[in-house]
Amino acid sequence: MFHQPVLSIQNLSVEYAARRGKVKAVRNVSFDVFRGETVAVIGESGCGKTTLALALVRLLPRAAKITSGKILFQSSDHSAPIDVLRLTQRQLRAFRWRNCAMVFQSALNALNPVLRISAQVQETARAHGEHDTKQVEERALWLFRQVRLDPKRVYHAYPHELSGGMRQRVLLALGLLLDPQVIILDEPTTALDVLTQRTIIEVLKRLRDEMGFALIFISHDLSMAAELAHRIVTMYAGEVVEIGQVNDVFYRPKHPYTLGLMRAVPNLSGGRAELVSIQGSPPDLIDLPRGCTFAPRCGYAQAICREQTPLLEMHETDHASACHFWNQLPVLRELPAASSQEIGS
Ligand code: SF4
Repeated sequence: MFHQPVLSIQNLSVEYAARRGKVKAVRNVSFDVFRGETVAVIGESGCGKTTLALALVRLLPRAAKITSGKILFQSSDHSAPIDVLRLTQRQLRAFRWRNCAMVFQSALNALNPVLRISAQVQETARAHGEHDTKQVEERALWLFRQVRLDPKRVYHAYPHELSGGMRQRVLLALGLLLDPQVIILDEPTTALDVLTQRTIIEVLKRLRDEMGFALIFISHDLSMAAELAHRIVTMYAGEVVEIGQVNDVFYRPKHPYTLGLMRAVPNLSGGRAELVSIQGSPPDLIDLPRGCTFAPRCGYAQAICREQTPLLEMHETDHASACHFWNQLPVLRELPAASSQEIGS
């Protein structure tokens, strides 16, 4: 259904320099993101999702280094692919926002508290060569309407005059200001109530379908991922351990870590008593265990797991995982409950 990759991530690795050694935050990550598609990247805190997102737009902190890999962006105008890791600082500024925009976790921190939204909109546009203030204002007002905000009121407001949900939608509109082909959302609804989360999901789905951008959705909220994503990427200890179509991954997980994530959240009919948390904690990314990094926490582990690192292999069409015993996992009956569905039921 999706044919053209807009972003191709190939063997990407990122390390942080720390006193004890090198923190291998992202290890050999490869996947494509197709035009119009939503890919949700899921996993516990510290699994490398945010580092991956920051690497895609080269906004990593100074202590981080991309040690290998490629990130290729293919524009819809069929020009030659852009090798993101080779862009100069000037080219990068154009790439961010125009080709690939990122909407950060905390709407409050991402907006300048002393500037009206209008000034922040115009400043963003000016920084990318858009000097027609009237046209920029019209586009911003149109986008505010699309994300269900009162355009005039929000445009002239200061961030503190808006609620958390409104600020998050302002950021989303700002991200869309220059009509990017990829949007990366890093935990966009973490601090929001369930009804606002619902609104944002609906807005995102509609805009994605109408405007045709690709969405990379970084989240630990499986219910939102289930509602929004076409494909799921599960990350553990900096690596992709499973990737596949949303229903395949959630109903028929092929990695015990994805299964553990699924069992740790409520489903629509299950009670809290049925929830099972994943025992133990993620490995030290400076000193990774031999073999499968999930082995110390895995109920399916056998001797071979501690010796041989499982490779990410395709087991069914479009469904790959890195597990020696992927075919021993059960089929699940229900997707995680969407918070909004709980509210609405
Ligand atoms: Fe568990 Fe072994 Fe699979 Fe790793 S390879 S996830 S330890 S069963």
